[in-house]
Amino acid sequence: MLYFKFSDYLMKTYKEKVYKIPVNLPATCPNRDGLLGSCGCIFCGEEGAGFENLSAVLPVKEQLEKNIGYIGRKYNAKKYIAYFQNYSNTYFPLEKFREYLQEAIVPDVVALYISTRPDCLNNGYFEAMKDIKEKHGVDIVVEIGLQTVNYHTLKTLNRGHGLAEFIDSVIRAKKYDIGTCAHMIIDLPMDNMEDVVEGAKILSAVGVNQVKSHSLYILKDTKLGSLYTRGIIQPVTMDEYIERIITFLEYLSPEIVIQRLIGRAPEERTLFSGWNTSWWKIVDMIEEKMTRENRYQGKRFNYLNGVTCLK
Ligand code: SF4
Repeated sequence: MLYFKFSDYLMKTYKEKVYKIPVNLPATCPNRDGLLGSCGCIFCGEEGAGFENLSAVLPVKEQLEKNIGYIGRKYNAKKYIAYFQNYSNTYFPLEKFREYLQEAIVPDVVALYISTRPDCLNNGYFEAMKDIKEKHGVDIVVEIGLQTVNYHTLKTLNRGHGLAEFIDSVIRAKKYDIGTCAHMIIDLPMDNMEDVVEGAKILSAVGVNQVKSHSLYILKDTKLGSLYTRGIIQPVTMDEYIERIITFLEYLSPEIVIQRLIGRAPEERTLFSGWNTSWWKIVDMIEEKMTRENRYQGKRFNYLNGVTCLK
């Protein structure tokens, strides 16, 4: 096994193919609404992190039923994950958040995946998630935006949080038996391979359950877009991306599920994305290189549990 694919995890857990259905809430983000800042992360576009959803005006149940009807017919699908994707989906009053979770409990939804920031998760939200999980027998995973473990890069990205908030959110998620998925951008031009390796080590040490890796895409009308058009930042090459992601996987615990190796970008507003190569071709190149060079997830996962203790 080259790496622990999400599709394999889903098959093992739910015994059949499971489809992720995006749900759009009328959410915002404290890094955009003025609480922490108004400009957001330097790469963030108008829709937050997601761009493929139905309108947030539709109730959650209706969004899910519409999409489930369509995907069910098209793929003969039987099980689904409701994925709250845009902005910070725990940045609501607690009771409202609880209502949204409850609305997502529709037939054939086996799990709720909730994207958010590490500093928007407190025990109240975890308690609400745990209640829904236990009452309805669904799995719940929080997808936490981290992007990098380099504190200085987090500042440059204007994330408005550091590494400590991420570690804290994962530790507390575990106490409530809520799953975690870390979102990482492996090819940040401000980071180097040492940051990538440290990222894999920290995610393994804190025991996240899943990782979703994105390659950097640069949108128009963002601070990052302006830095790019003025020649102040240069994206890393595709070869460098491939090497970084393979090295990341080598250092990552083999138990961590890889939701995605590379993301897709919205086409219209993009200044740079994916080296003009389809994401699936890049995945093929990664897998071919791993096979050719006998490299796999966890190959260098040998650094925890007091590795230099005297025998
Ligand atoms: S935390 Fe997410 S939604 Fe908020 S500004 Fe950053 S990328 Fe955008």
